[in-house]
Amino acid sequence: MKFADLGLSDELLGAIIAKGYDTPTPIQAQAIPSVLMMKDLIAIAQTGTGKTASFVLPMIDILAHGRRRAMMPRSLILEPTRELAAQVAENFEAYGKNHDLKMALLIGGVQMGDQVKALNEGVDVLIATPGRLMDLFERGKILLTGCDLLVIDEADRMLDMGFIPDIETICSKLPANRQTLLFSATMPPPIKKLADKFLSNPKYIEVARPASTNTQIAQFKVPVASSRVKRDVLRQLLTSDDVATAMIFCNRKTTVRELNKSLQRHGFASAEIHGDMDQPQRLAELQRFKDGAVNILVCSDVAARGLDIKGVSHVFNFDTPWHPDDYVHRVGRTGRAGATGRAFTLIAPEDAEAIENVEKLTGSKLPVFEVEKGGAKADKPERDEKPARGRREEKPERAAKPEREERAPRQDRPKRDGTKPPKAESRGKARRDEDEGDEPGVWNGPVPSFLGISAL
Ligand code: AMP
Repeated sequence: MKFADLGLSDELLGAIIAKGYDTPTPIQAQAIPSVLMMKDLIAIAQTGTGKTASFVLPMIDILAHGRRRAMMPRSLILEPTRELAAQVAENFEAYGKNHDLKMALLIGGVQMGDQVKALNEGVDVLIATPGRLMDLFERGKILLTGCDLLVIDEADRMLDMGFIPDIETICSKLPANRQTLLFSATMPPPIKKLADKFLSNPKYIEVARPASTNTQIAQFKVPVASSRVKRDVLRQLLTSDDVATAMIFCNRKTTVRELNKSLQRHGFASAEIHGDMDQPQRLAELQRFKDGAVNILVCSDVAARGLDIKGVSHVFNFDTPWHPDDYVHRVGRTGRAGATGRAFTLIAPEDAEAIENVEKLTGSKLPVFEVEKGGAKADKPERDEKPARGRREEKPERAAKPEREERAPRQDRPKRDGTKPPKAESRGKARRDEDEGDEPGVWNGPVPSFLGISAL
């Protein structure tokens, strides 16, 4: 099957070829024809499967005909995070280069005035995080009655982040006879309910998770005597394994911070990303890594999902993730788009159970990689390597669900005084205040040039 067989326009095929693709991924092959036929769609697919292009491509052809109107976007894509929204925007920019389509990105951290200006000029595609969209809607700056196509991307993550009430509200503002495409890695009951309520007679597609046993990725486990020698072993691997670029994943934010400092002290060019940093900081660090200013990025699972960073030669799991799914996401940061990659997971005794769960999920035992004795033996910890006081109490970076702690509604957390969190109705507003950084902030992320929004 080739892209040319899917019913896409010649202009679009030209843009796809320019991007270097000629064969659709399974989700693209299944989704594109039915989206072009204006059918609703439920697609169970994770990032890494090519799912973004599976809705972006047919949308471009659908939107090629029709007229833009001020304040009334013709289509809407909901994304849980600003990074993912920006990534979808980049896809539109690349694939839509032969079309005259206008897009706006509605995300926290970009000055609202610029976004309103873009909307006033009329847009074909609005890519938004639910919180910012609701705010603009409530201020009467946007009308959703002309929006005939809705994409709800990463629905299960939206659920994790408390966005479902907003999404329900948004769905009820759109025309009832619109086309709706829902993408989710899993289908927990609240998402199933959402789909039953807002989709009509959808086509259902399920594609395999992106190859966890991707043959392009050589994966190893590296036993270490205790967590105290992990840094030595890691440094040894970093210097001996021909590392061009590496992402190093830790389970806790504190570990990310301390490990990054330690690597820098040892002369490595490293940066860090974790959920305690504000968005502009995170994006700036990510950009330094993408630009090659640093070649090592120490991160928590916040960075593991969704972000498409090309050319990562190595992934290191400084800790084995507690959730085996996260292993797949982390390791999937390398070996992307046909490239080869190497992934090492350091296994201290306390990682034993977690690695067992990973091996159960991936269905194979990871081969053991013996680090040369010198590094593994150096078990004298650096001065600051002792567990920091109170670290035990620190919540894991990903305690239960991906990124929930990063953006969880404040109200959902138990209050110190033991009072109960407020009811769901009042959730939306307060959560948005926290999530979306509604004070005009700084957006340092990629802002596609044709957005007509100036980055601050
Ligand atoms: P996604 O699942 O949308 O995050 O896409 C994962 C990666 O696959 C991105 O780097 C895409 O550029 C890439 N990709 C998308 N479609 C194709 C394709 N048909 N062939 C090869 N790579 C693709």
